[in-house]
Amino acid sequence: MGAIESFTATAEIGHHVGGRPAAGTSGRRQAVYNPATGAVARQVALADVTEVNAAVAAAQAAFPAWADTPPIRRARVLNRFLALMNEHRDTLAAMITAEHGKVFTDAQGEVARGIDIIEFACGIPQLLKGDYTDQVSTGIDNWTLRQPLGVVAGITPFNFPCMVPCWMFPMALAAGNTFILKPSERDPSASLFMAELLREAGLPDGVFNVVQGDKVAVDALIEHSDVKAVSFVGSTPIAHYIHERCAHFGKRVQALGGAKNHMVVMPDADLDQAVDALIGAGYGSAGERCMAISVAVLVGDVADKIVPLIAERARALKVKNGMELDAEMGPIVTRQALERIEGYIALGVEEGATLVVDGRGLKVPGHEDGFFTGGTLFDHVTPSMRIYREEIFGPVLSCVRAKDFAEAVQLVNDHEFGNGVACYTRDGNIAREFARRIQVGMVGINVPIPVPMAWHGFGGWKRSLFGDTHAYGEEGVRFYTKQKSVMQRWPESTAKGAEFTMPTAK
Ligand code: NAD
Repeated sequence: MGAIESFTATAEIGHHVGGRPAAGTSGRRQAVYNPATGAVARQVALADVTEVNAAVAAAQAAFPAWADTPPIRRARVLNRFLALMNEHRDTLAAMITAEHGKVFTDAQGEVARGIDIIEFACGIPQLLKGDYTDQVSTGIDNWTLRQPLGVVAGITPFNFPCMVPCWMFPMALAAGNTFILKPSERDPSASLFMAELLREAGLPDGVFNVVQGDKVAVDALIEHSDVKAVSFVGSTPIAHYIHERCAHFGKRVQALGGAKNHMVVMPDADLDQAVDALIGAGYGSAGERCMAISVAVLVGDVADKIVPLIAERARALKVKNGMELDAEMGPIVTRQALERIEGYIALGVEEGATLVVDGRGLKVPGHEDGFFTGGTLFDHVTPSMRIYREEIFGPVLSCVRAKDFAEAVQLVNDHEFGNGVACYTRDGNIAREFARRIQVGMVGINVPIPVPMAWHGFGGWKRSLFGDTHAYGEEGVRFYTKQKSVMQRWPESTAKGAEFTMPTAK
């Protein structure tokens, strides 16, 4: 593990190409911060087109042998990787906290959810089993098989530097593809750590590559004719752009975008449970989760009862350096993101929402230069306000009042995003109707953050996902493979002559 310890000590975070670390050669680099202290920790290299092309060439060279490797042997490599991920999960979590800022226990949870997908991908021999029909016509059999695409790329956001890449590459590699990961330039170390673990697990050189970078690297990947598919997770404007560009180049694409997740609280809900859920899902990871709850839809008379309870808890949040074990909320990822969030709070006040708890300007003793803000709570937010319509991606919870269940459902369904949603109720019929009528991809009934397990697949609706397939699960297998149908006949030796009509069962 010497290599793993040493690469975190280097001043510049580079790439991983052809099975080994590669220093940046473009001359472009960007600061990576420790958000808890506000200090520049290291610099990350930003790839140019030449560096991207080198990674694609390495992945292309590795593809034929990896695609030909029996799935059970590919799964064995992933099994060794799984063991290494489990062994080093806390190292990875600490690396995430250092660059992202989220609290260490939350980072541990992120790593655990990433590991779930690797575990699922280890079952690839079963997942790749095709269909077979004996005797579709006399003497003819027909079967389908799924084959890998080739070199595929993953472009990932800052907020889950381990889990979101794990939505992609374990499935892609298990299916026989080779992979290029372009992680977020804001917290790039976890990707390199995983590349080292894959190498140690026995993954052949070039099968998994990491290219650090920004738009230059992303565009080069999309435009490269050897890159056959692109998985993207990030904000909606970029997801839309990626989807359009990939479509232009005729590339398979799944592009998961932003969110504005609502939690509907019915008058019969258990209020203590609902408050716990809103606090955890609204302020956990400082609201920097695509499944964070950012809108509480308070139905009937529930608002006047619950808002004071949420306010009390939001004021008491323990906001600290994420490495302190009692921290409930860490800093925001960058100063720029902090300013955007606090700008939205000022906008909410201007728009006429009631600012119940103001988290702005929070100073954490000993970390005065860290990118901290406290939990913010707005009441009387209305659908016309920008703080309701736009994704803030910070610890800002907006309360909207709805007169009844139908109005609450309409509100959610009218929103442009459709990633996650939750409903708190004790009424089974309401719960059932909610799950059936709501126009959102992932639904929680008395579950605030319904991130599906590895074998179910993850994806939103509306402008939260561009493309046809969700991430991981069986949808992931479909995304990273193409179906081939084989029809076979072993005729007796006497030729019967050409047939000019469409073949039908005989
Ligand atoms: P982002 O869109 O800024 O960046 C995502 C990736 O795109 C990064 O790798 C980045 O380098 C690249 N990128 C940025 N600008 C680009 C451009 N102009 N052209 C090409 N590539 C570009 O997102 P972020 O700030 O890193 O992450 C937060 C966003 O991701 C939020 O909107 C959040 O909701 C979303 N997200 C969505 C999901 C989901 O499953 N739907 C999951 C996690 C995060």
